[in-house]
Amino acid sequence: MKRPIAIIGGSGVKSILKGEQRIIGTPYGPTPNLTIGEIDGRPAVFLPRHGEFHSSPPHRVNYRASIWGLKNLGIERIIATNAVGAIDQQLSPGEIVIPMDLVDFTKSRIGTFYDGSPVTHIDVSQPYCPREREVLAASATAAGKAAPRDVVMACTEGPRYETPAEIKMLRTMGCHIVGMTGAPEVFLARELEMCYASISFVSNMAAGLQRTLSAREVEEKGRETSQVLNKILASAISRMPESRKDCPCGTALSHAQLKKDIVEAAQ
Ligand SMILES: [Zn+2]
Repeated sequence: MKRPIAIIGGSGVKSILKGEQRIIGTPYGPTPNLTIGEIDGRPAVFLPRHGEFHSSPPHRVNYRASIWGLKNLGIERIIATNAVGAIDQQLSPGEIVIPMDLVDFTKSRIGTFYDGSPVTHIDVSQPYCPREREVLAASATAAGKAAPRDVVMACTEGPRYETPAEIKMLRTMGCHIVGMTGAPEVFLARELEMCYASISFVSNMAAGLQRTLSAREVEEKGRETSQVLNKILASAISRMPESRKDCPCGTALSHAQLKKDIVEAAQ
């Protein structure tokens, strides 16, 4: 039997997956209520990032419990979905993009599993799994959506939206989209040597680029986009290779920790 693939995302995505409901206990607290089932015959797990009833705001999501819980189920591959605002004016609401990099502007979240010894510096030269990004791009093309891939995401702390000046700054820094949930999720997955990529949908133009921002508008756009997003996800899950030989994610820890003998010699 193939290993399950996890989808982390909003409630619109849940509808493609039916199955057993389960909460996993972790050293960091319980996961949200997971749905464990299959999509087109392939085992899959859905994790509602903000909880079943969308009750955890982005800065309060227990990212460590979620990623640890998925690892505990034997999962090696995660596809995350994120609602984002467009900073790049070439993008427009309803578009789907596959981020290649991320700038982390969060402030209050615990961003690591390695809070003590052994000191661990994970490499994030390619923060998103390159193989998964290819599969997502091919799946988007197959669903008739051209998904831009050279996209940099800014992750802000939230829960408020950004100010126009902040958006201007993010644009100057080379960010194309902005969301509140990209970090530390992607980094935690790499720390546990899991493959992780995001498929993001543009729900609105960022502050200063449209009149006002409303959470309802984001939700409505999400519902509109969820049909095509679900199609891409189902296709990506069936196309995703079982082997992880052609990406760096599965061996991320092999060069991340200082050699013990060097540490001991220094003491
Ligand atoms: Zn990978």
